[in-house]
Amino acid sequence: MPQLVLAVIVGCAVCQIGIFCTTVYLHRTVAHRALTLAPSVRLVFRVLVWITTGIRPRQWAAVHRKHHAFTDVEGDPHSPHLQTTGRCPRLRGALHAHAGWLLRAPATDVGRWAPDLAGDPDLVMLTRLFPLACAVSLGAPALLGWAISGTGAGALGGLVWGGLVRVFVLQQATFAVNSACHLWGRRPFRTREQDRATNLAVLSVLSMGESWHNAHHASPRTARHGVDRGQLDSTARLIQALERCRLVSQVRWPTPESLDARRVEAGQRERSASVLTRSAAVGRSGTHRRWTRSAPAGPGT
Ligand SMILES: [Zn+2]
Ligand SMILES: [Zn+2]
Repeated sequence: MPQLVLAVIVGCAVCQIGIFCTTVYLHRTVAHRALTLAPSVRLVFRVLVWITTGIRPRQWAAVHRKHHAFTDVEGDPHSPHLQTTGRCPRLRGALHAHAGWLLRAPATDVGRWAPDLAGDPDLVMLTRLFPLACAVSLGAPALLGWAISGTGAGALGGLVWGGLVRVFVLQQATFAVNSACHLWGRRPFRTREQDRATNLAVLSVLSMGESWHNAHHASPRTARHGVDRGQLDSTARLIQALERCRLVSQVRWPTPESLDARRVEAGQRERSASVLTRSAAVGRSGTHRRWTRSAPAGPGT
């Protein structure tokens, strides 16, 4: 039993690292350019993404930028709102947005949506080593379990909890934002007309703040998604800590003015002003540019 507890603890820790790699590095840094990582931190994140998730960063960024450009209209790779015919369209849409799109959606043109990442030697090398990443991602927890316990059962526990369960939980955190955060929740900020992105508080802990998805779609290039009082955004907290240590720069924090310009309810303006005072002091946001259907590329990492 102690070995099982240890395996679960290790699995949870690695899972948390993997989700942070997705939120800080893949999403807010690579896909949206909301901050710039110091070279040493960038290398750490790249290696950790490679080991903990096996995700190809350029492919991930391309799909995500396309999602922002075509949110909930034809062309969106994983919208739950495009299934309008047949039986149970809402359920089928939810399943498609959660994971079904991985099997059914047409391949995203990476050259069009992520041209800025094409010549990055680190990413090219890590993409080539993708099979090795999968082997390390699953093999390392098993090896760790064996090293700690000295038994085959320990190795199996490490593989199951530190490998398979960890990958499953990590994927659900990302998939849930794609599906649930376009179906249920509040929409306090204005987005494009057909954009149905929502704020879903119940997912904020598991998603590390990514479930404040309506706020994110309203201002995609800002580094904080949980912008109101009590909205947990552990990814923004980590970015703030890295900024204090001078390990990240050019962080695009939202300002009360930029949020008020997007708010649906004018009565909520005072709340954002009070909550964001400290953020505004840490770093002022620059211009907010969102990925558009005609101009997806951005500056280099
Ligand atoms: Zn979305
Ligand atoms: Zn995004």
